[in-house]
Amino acid sequence: MFDSLQNRLGSILNGLTGRGALSADDVSAALREVRRALLEADVSLEVVRSFTDRVRTKAVGAEILKSIRPGQMVVKLVHDELVATLGSDHSPIDLNAAAPVTIMMVGLQGSGKTTTSGKLAKRLTEKQRKKVLMASLDTRRPAAQEQLRILGEQTGVATLPIIAGQDPVEIAARAAQAAKLGGYDVLILDTAGRTHIDEPLMAEMAEIKARTKPHEILLVADSLTGQDAVNLARSFDERVGITGIVLTRIDGDGRGGAALSMRAVTGKPIKLIGTGEKMDALEDFHPSRIADRILGMGDIVSLVERAAENIDAEKAASMAKKMQSGKFDLNDLADQIGQMQKMGGMGGMMGLMPGMAKMKDQVAAAGLDDKMLKRQLAIISSMTAAERGNPDILKHSRKKRIAAGSGTSSADINKLLKMHRQMADVMKSMTKGKGGMMGQLMGG
Ligand code: GDP
Repeated sequence: MFDSLQNRLGSILNGLTGRGALSADDVSAALREVRRALLEADVSLEVVRSFTDRVRTKAVGAEILKSIRPGQMVVKLVHDELVATLGSDHSPIDLNAAAPVTIMMVGLQGSGKTTTSGKLAKRLTEKQRKKVLMASLDTRRPAAQEQLRILGEQTGVATLPIIAGQDPVEIAARAAQAAKLGGYDVLILDTAGRTHIDEPLMAEMAEIKARTKPHEILLVADSLTGQDAVNLARSFDERVGITGIVLTRIDGDGRGGAALSMRAVTGKPIKLIGTGEKMDALEDFHPSRIADRILGMGDIVSLVERAAENIDAEKAASMAKKMQSGKFDLNDLADQIGQMQKMGGMGGMMGLMPGMAKMKDQVAAAGLDDKMLKRQLAIISSMTAAERGNPDILKHSRKKRIAAGSGTSSADINKLLKMHRQMADVMKSMTKGKGGMMGQLMGG
C-alpha cells in the first residue's frame, strides 16, 4: 500500500527537529523519500526529477533559515511546489467566444470521453443555463453515436441526428452548421478514440480541429493509466494542441500522480475531474486537494467523511483526563488544532460536532479559519517546551522571538493566547456539566 509521504518523512523530519537550518545533506535525505513517494504515487520519473530539483533549490538556502521548524518547512515546500506544479488556481472551461463555442473532446478509447461529454453538457445546461448540442464523431465504434444519443436523452441535452455513412470530418462540419443555425451556445464534439496513440488518429484530430476551430480542446485521460498518461498528453498536445485536461476515474485513483505528470509535461491546466460513473460525477479540479492526496494527507472532503474514524481515541482519553484536572496547555491546543485539521478544518469540524455550536462564536471571534489554524500551529511550534506548558511566561521579548520564528506578529500571538484562554474556560465549564463538544469528542 502507498505509504503516506508524511509518514515516511516522519523519522527524517523528527531528526531535523530543533535544528536551525537545513543542510544540503538534510535536504537530500528528505528528498530521497519525497522522490520515492512520488514515484509510488505514479508520477513519471522525469517529472519527479525536475520537481525534486526545484524543491532542493528552494530548500537549501535562505528561505529555510527563517523557517518554523526545518521538518515542517520541507513538507510545506513540497506541498507548495506540488500546488504550483499542478497549477495554483482552478482553471474553468473557457466559454468566452462567439457562440457556438466549440469544445472538442479527445483521448484514447475507454478514457471516458463520451461519459465526460455527457457530464459536461449536463453541467453547462443545468448550472450555466447554456443551450448545448452534442455530436459524436466516432464512426469506428459501431455503437458510439448511439451511446451519445442515449446520454443526451438521459440528460436532456440535444444531440446531432445520426446520418449513416458520413465520415468524422463531415459530421463535424454538419454539427458546426447545426449549432449555428439552431442558436446553440455550446457545441461539444466527442471524437473517436483508439486503444493506443497512432498517426491516423492524430491526423483525424488535426483535420477536425482545422474544420471546426474549437475554442477548447480537452484531453480526456484515465488517471489510472499513470505513466502512460504522460506520453499520451505529450503526443496529443504536440500533434493536436490541447487547451486543458480532464482526468477521469479519480474515484479509483488514490494517488494522483498522473495529474502531476500531465500538468508538468504539457503545462496545460487540468480543468475537470471525473469522480464516478454517474452523470453528475464531474468536479472542478483543485490543485491543493491533489497535492494533499499525493502528500498522503488525504483530501479535505474524504477526510470529513472519515472524520469519525479519525478521532484518536487514546489521545482523546488522555486529553479528557487532563481537562478534568483543569489543565489545558498549548501542547493540548496544538493537538486540538491538529485534530481539527484532520477532520477537514473548521467547516468539517463544525458540521460534525453537534455541541460545537456552543463554541462557534468564540471561534469566529478569534478569526479561526483554516489559514488561521496553520498559523496557530506555526506559532506554537516556534515556542519552547516551557512556553507551551506555561503560556503565562510569554512576555514581550519571547513573543517577539516567536513572531519572528513563525513569520507572524505579536498581535497574532496575542490572538492565539486569547483563544487558548477562552477555550480553556469553555472546556472547564463543559467538563463540569456533561456532553457538549468535548463530551462528543471524548466519548466518541
Ligand atoms: P470513451 O471510449 O472514451 O468514450 O469512454 P466512455 O465514456 O465510454 O467510458 C468508459 C467507461 O468508463 C464507462 O463505463 C464509464 O462509465 C466509465 N467512466 C467514465 N468516467 C468515469 C469516472 O470518472 N469514474 C468512473 N468510475 N468511471 C468512469
